[in-house]
Amino acid sequence: MYAIAIHGGAGVISPKELTAALEKQYLQGLKDALDAGFKILEKGGSALDAVQAAVVLLEDNELFNAGKGSAFTSDETHELEASIMCGKRVDGGAACGLKNVKNPILLARAVLEESHHLFLNGQGAELFADERELEFVPKEYFYTEKKYKELKECQSNAGKNKGTVGAVAIDGEGNLAAATSTGGLTNKKFGRIGDSPILGAGTYANNTTCAVSCTGDGEYFIRCVAAYDVSALLEYKGMTLQNACQEVVMHKLKKLGGEGGLIAIDRQANIEMVFNGEGMYRGYQKQNHQAEVFIY
Ligand code: ASP
Repeated sequence: MYAIAIHGGAGVISPKELTAALEKQYLQGLKDALDAGFKILEKGGSALDAVQAAVVLLEDNELFNAGKGSAFTSDETHELEASIMCGKRVDGGAACGLKNVKNPILLARAVLEESHHLFLNGQGAELFADERELEFVPKEYFYTEKKYKELKECQSNAGKNKGTVGAVAIDGEGNLAAATSTGGLTNKKFGRIGDSPILGAGTYANNTTCAVSCTGDGEYFIRCVAAYDVSALLEYKGMTLQNACQEVVMHKLKKLGGEGGLIAIDRQANIEMVFNGEGMYRGYQKQNHQAEVFIY
């Protein structure tokens, strides 16, 4: 049984702000990304390629906080981050502090496949991307009116604006993979790095347990080592995927004050999409089933 699940961020959705037209656009964006990933699985492709393809589409869609639609830092720039993990090899690739790489998830994948390092930062990461001839864009590419408005709102009311995209999948050979990409928190300062590019915190995959991609208050997900914690509850406590996700999102994170959610898939292609806030853009599709997408 092959299957894929995706998310486009949690805790950012206020039903009051989401008009019917905008809601439709979000759902379509999710559907398109899901399709891109699912098609790869249908053709016998790998879970790794499927999560990458889904995340690339979400990165290219300015509605979501990753790639094109990335949130602004406090000094009106962008610092993108992403990670990807292969459950078969229990190996990954990650990059952060990216200013001009169009699709950070492709850089994370290149780090996984072609570097003996695992996590690259800033200038070095971009040099590595350049050597691999990944696409670069001028900084104006990441300017979107919506995200600029959000920055100004955050700066005037000390608000917290978030968002991230991610995908998890199992392929026909039973291999698991997870991918996560983000612009990070709106108004972030001092080179702040969130959970998304940190394997174990925002992303984790291991064929013996599950694949996980998180979204929410990054600091809390790092403190909880959230993605790995779901896997560890399966591995060491023999929990079901459902119970493990509930434990991490509804108890551990919540107890510390962390808002957000995660998507996870296990070896039996069980899928969980759990969040402790108002909503999470999300969807999934399993072999021989229709795609399902949701917001609340
Ligand atoms: N986890 C992301 C971060 O802290 C934000 C999000 O997922 O909403 O950078």
